[in-house]
Amino acid sequence: MVVRMRHTRSHTRNRRSHHALKTAQFVACGKCGSQNPPHTVCSNCGSYKGRVVIDMAGKIEQKQLRKKGKHKEAKEKSEKDLDPAELSKK
Ligand SMILES: [Zn+2]
Repeated sequence: MVVRMRHTRSHTRNRRSHHALKTAQFVACGKCGSQNPPHTVCSNCGSYKGRVVIDMAGKIEQKQLRKKGKHKEAKEKSEKDLDPAELSKK
């Protein structure tokens, strides 16, 4: 066994005094009023500081498409719309 520095109950308890859990903090969204962690984009409407950052309607639409299993078809369609000749021009 390795000889270690003197380790008292006081030292142990002093160290563990910082181990307490804190309750989660939430802030109401300015646009929709849903509760979110502070300094994060709203998970309900996708806005931050009164500005829409994430298109949540589009995300929900994509999720529904994925559930139906049609996302592959949609992807293929979008790929068909883009001609390789046009892409090379860009
Ligand atoms: Zn919101």
